[in-house]
Amino acid sequence: MENSALLKAVIQNAIDGILTIDEYGTIESINPSACALFGYLEQQLIGKNISILIPSSCKKESHMYINSYNKSFKSSIGTGRQSIGVRKNGNLFPLHLEVSEVQFLDRSIYCGFIHDLSQQKEAEDRLQQYASHLEEVVEDRTESLNSTIADLQLAKEKISQSLVKEKQLNKLKSQFLSMASHEFRTPLSTIQLSASLISKYAQEYSNPNIEKHVKKIKCAVSNLTSILNDFLYAEKKGINNVKPVYSSFNLVELGTEIAEELQLLVKQGQFIKYSHYGASVTVSLDKNLIKNSIINLIVNAIKYSEECTVIEFKTSIDESQCIISIKDDGIGIPEQDQKHLFEPFFRAQNAGNVSGTGLGLTIVARYTSLMNGTISFKSTPHQGTVFTLLFPMQ
Ligand code: ATP
Ligand code: MG
Repeated sequence: MENSALLKAVIQNAIDGILTIDEYGTIESINPSACALFGYLEQQLIGKNISILIPSSCKKESHMYINSYNKSFKSSIGTGRQSIGVRKNGNLFPLHLEVSEVQFLDRSIYCGFIHDLSQQKEAEDRLQQYASHLEEVVEDRTESLNSTIADLQLAKEKISQSLVKEKQLNKLKSQFLSMASHEFRTPLSTIQLSASLISKYAQEYSNPNIEKHVKKIKCAVSNLTSILNDFLYAEKKGINNVKPVYSSFNLVELGTEIAEELQLLVKQGQFIKYSHYGASVTVSLDKNLIKNSIINLIVNAIKYSEECTVIEFKTSIDESQCIISIKDDGIGIPEQDQKHLFEPFFRAQNAGNVSGTGLGLTIVARYTSLMNGTISFKSTPHQGTVFTLLFPMQ
């Protein structure tokens, strides 16, 4: 008696729903959890067919369904399965059903254990949603990654195409340069020779202007020849293969000589003012490369500044370094062009009609670095430019 009271108490307080039906599906007993699960009072279910707890959407033909449900209810014996229940308010919910057959007073009754799966199902649904969202995200990412890869591929192709073009263009430029240099040499020699002859025959006329201009022609021709030689040399060996030939020489003598030579080439009223600082006058560098670099810088200063201006050419030597600077009050270099200045063939926007190939500074920069020196400049448009070469003293 005590045992049966205990059992009843257990059933009454069980968390899962428990109910029994007879062979025809009539509900004979039901515990409070099952009532709460389906939203009925106990008396509203006792004596009713189990079909009351089955969703109407599933009941195509109620009688057949009841039978089939009873059958399936019974077929769950010992196995357990997932199903759907309907609450009194019509809401559907997922449940897990375990059925056991009980022989009681010479008849079979069926006992069902019902576990509400709503929360578990919700969690599963949420997980499913996360998974499909994740899949979408992965798909999106893969797509954008693929398109980035395609863009990159395209960019790579474009770059290699322009690289090929650039190489072809550079080759063409070099070829043109070599050809032009060669072609210029013959007429230059003729000019040089004719200038010499003029000065020889002109002496008889003793007009100082003839002498002055012949000197100018000779000087220009020799500068041009030396520039052409540089081009040819650089073309043949590749400018990076030029090896400096060091010798000790008097920098002040060289500076004075260059200043005098180039004074013959200046524009009207321009003046090259040369000054040297420091007690020492001797340096050990490649004289030719230094001369060429200074000429390039002074010729630039002449070309890119107005008439009647002063070009300041300074050298200085101390124990640690030799500095060469060339300053003009000319047109200056626009800010946005300054970073490209040492690129071959680059010319600033404001170079306008001033003649030039854009190679001079490239050559000066390479010669300077060959002698372990550095080149720097400061420039302000319309105010002027100063280029500085610095060589460490061994
Ligand atoms: P070239 O090969 O005959 O020397 P270039 O003078 O044009 O031709 P670079 O000497 O390399 O070539 O100079 C490159 C560019 O830098 C020039 O075209 C010019 O725009 C600018 N530049 C160089 N020196 C000066 C300067 N002193 N003042 C203003 N602009 C300058
Ligand atoms: Mg130049």
